[in-house]
Amino acid sequence: MTQGFSTRALHAGAAPDPVTGSRAQPIHQTTSFVFKDAEHASKLFALQEFGNIYTRLGNPTTGALEERIANLEGGTMGVATASGHAAQLLAFHVLMEPGTKIVAAKQLYGGSINQLGHAFKKFGWRVEFVDINDGAAVEAAMDDTVRVIFSESLANPGGVVTDMAQVAAIAKKHGVVYMVDNTMASPYLCQPLQHGANIVVNSLTKFIGGHGNSIGGMLVDGGNFDWKAHADKYPTMATPQAYYNDLNFAEGFGALPLGPDGAAVDIAFAIAARAFSLRDLGPALSPFNAFMILTGCETLPLRMDKHCANATAVAEYLSGHEKVSWVQYAGLAGDKYHALAQTYCPKGAGAVFTFGLKGGHEAGVKLVEHVKLFSHLANIGDTRSLIIHPSSTTHSQLSDAQKTAAGAAPDTVRLSVGIEDAADIIADLQQALAVI
Ligand SMILES: *Cc1c(COP(=O)(O)O)cnc(C)c1O
Repeated sequence: MTQGFSTRALHAGAAPDPVTGSRAQPIHQTTSFVFKDAEHASKLFALQEFGNIYTRLGNPTTGALEERIANLEGGTMGVATASGHAAQLLAFHVLMEPGTKIVAAKQLYGGSINQLGHAFKKFGWRVEFVDINDGAAVEAAMDDTVRVIFSESLANPGGVVTDMAQVAAIAKKHGVVYMVDNTMASPYLCQPLQHGANIVVNSLTKFIGGHGNSIGGMLVDGGNFDWKAHADKYPTMATPQAYYNDLNFAEGFGALPLGPDGAAVDIAFAIAARAFSLRDLGPALSPFNAFMILTGCETLPLRMDKHCANATAVAEYLSGHEKVSWVQYAGLAGDKYHALAQTYCPKGAGAVFTFGLKGGHEAGVKLVEHVKLFSHLANIGDTRSLIIHPSSTTHSQLSDAQKTAAGAAPDTVRLSVGIEDAADIIADLQQALAVI
């Protein structure tokens, strides 16, 4: 029987240390690992045997985290990275070639809009942003240069829930990869691989680490894409690679006997992401951060339940407040994404949402200046409650029209509701709202 999520969040990937008996996962704070002999070394380098070489390529502490997150997402193998953005970079680096295109949700996190829209241009990777829940718009963007459709499960900050089954069907029809950023939901609330995604990326910086102390990222291979059938589109995956003695990742790692009773498991994408992209681009996670994030991950289910309950209480309170014009939280019964949230995130719609102040830009500035329990900063997914007024911070360079189009209209305030007592969170908003 498969163990429950809470059990796996604590135990997957980590066992008492066989040498010392250490119960917590040891931090292997080392750059490199001694080979047993020359033959061992040569097999490791040729990918004929798995093992530790150098921490840029892998590390036992980081490995425990990779196994845990891959397990929680229901994937075949994980690759940890120095940040969520680095996980996205590595995943795209395996899949894209100069001139190929990403079809991406226009509702992506602002940092991802920048990464795809500006930084990736230098690699010759093109991007077309579409309204991800408009099936006709996604379909219209598909052409034979598309390699990836990319969306979030729950989108930051608009509270958009993606209809992942609909997007996955379009990706499947065109024989391309569907990649999902699951940061806002975490694998506790949502499992994109069960809804047809092929690859999941997470910023571990947010809810998985959960305590606002470590930056990290993870890509998880769903093991469910037929690379060999699409070798023309994905040469890195399914054609011989000269830098590994003409190894073909899909041939070599597409059906290893790693499953229950030796069942075949496809880890080809994760191996390519590590042996090619992580090796050569270099954004490895530090073992210390892996340890911090593993520790945070142990309480992910407890925290997410509390985050969601608090967010619902705060959203309900704000909905009834005279100075608030609107609240956009998919956890509220009247919200336009409520039905999709019940399909994709039945345990809760997360803890990040936006609301509008009748007093507009000025009121937003005042609110962030008068909260006391909330921290005014640009992060989400901390144990502590966080607030930001995008119009005066992250989106301040844009015109009012551009702000509105980006879901950051002058009146919009974003909350990441923490796990304090709900009454204290509400009391803090109440006293700050009284001032504006
Ligand atoms: C923060 C965030 C990222 C980027 O993660 P970093 O760890 O900051 O690089 C990507 N996607 C979403 C939805 C995020 O919130």
